[in-house]
Amino acid sequence: MPKNLIKFKGLVIKEKRIGDNKLIVVLTKELGVISIFCNGGFKPQSKNLGATQLFSYSDFCVDEKTDSSGQKRYYLDSSTSDTIFYRIRLDVISSALASYIAELLNYCGIAEENNGEVLRLTLNTYYSLNSDRQPPELLKSIYELRLLCEIGYRPNLIGCNNCYLYESDSMHFNIKTGKLLCDDCISEEDRNNGFDYLFDKNMLYIVRYIMLSDYDELFSFKISDKAQKKLTKFSEAFVSYYIKAKFVSRDFFKMINLV
Ligand SMILES: [Zn+2]
Repeated sequence: MPKNLIKFKGLVIKEKRIGDNKLIVVLTKELGVISIFCNGGFKPQSKNLGATQLFSYSDFCVDEKTDSSGQKRYYLDSSTSDTIFYRIRLDVISSALASYIAELLNYCGIAEENNGEVLRLTLNTYYSLNSDRQPPELLKSIYELRLLCEIGYRPNLIGCNNCYLYESDSMHFNIKTGKLLCDDCISEEDRNNGFDYLFDKNMLYIVRYIMLSDYDELFSFKISDKAQKKLTKFSEAFVSYYIKAKFVSRDFFKMINLV
């Protein structure tokens, strides 16, 4: 059967050994998250060793086949590395965070229309992590909040969802409904339903910034340790509400990144 070769760029988010062969999971702009079978991918002499390594961003050329059930299967023909995030591999905290991000992506199974933005967000986060530009803890919060926005859970943070007040010393964000309300507009019931998260002015500014900024601004800011503690609490509560999975790599990251 003639080969049906297709080319694309992708980020390796998982690799699995099957004897001398390898199965990789790749996040791509064109096809979403796909699995690629690499024949002999673990042999030391394989030309594809570097490009198919975990966290590599590479050019792939694959043979696309459709099986009897109509499902597409991808077999690696050739690959070349574009970016290998060396520093992420060398640093245990960075590598733990990159693994958590990869695990989140694997779990979410990104819908086709969001691939481009999610790939851009993930690559930007890895670049920042690799160049030590922002602390891993901040990158974790940025990624968690922004990923949820890109896959369809972007809350309306422009102002109080009832009276349009832009900011005040205390604003309430309901994690379940994604609504922002001011002190005057929140009902007793909303206040006591267990999903209420209180933002002071600074926190609201930071969360708005993360959810709404362009990537150039997103990957160049820093915050105080005190603000980071609050932000971590919020981003974890937000992500845990929408993505109800247990991530081993997140627990590991938290264990080794205790400050
Ligand atoms: Zn209001």
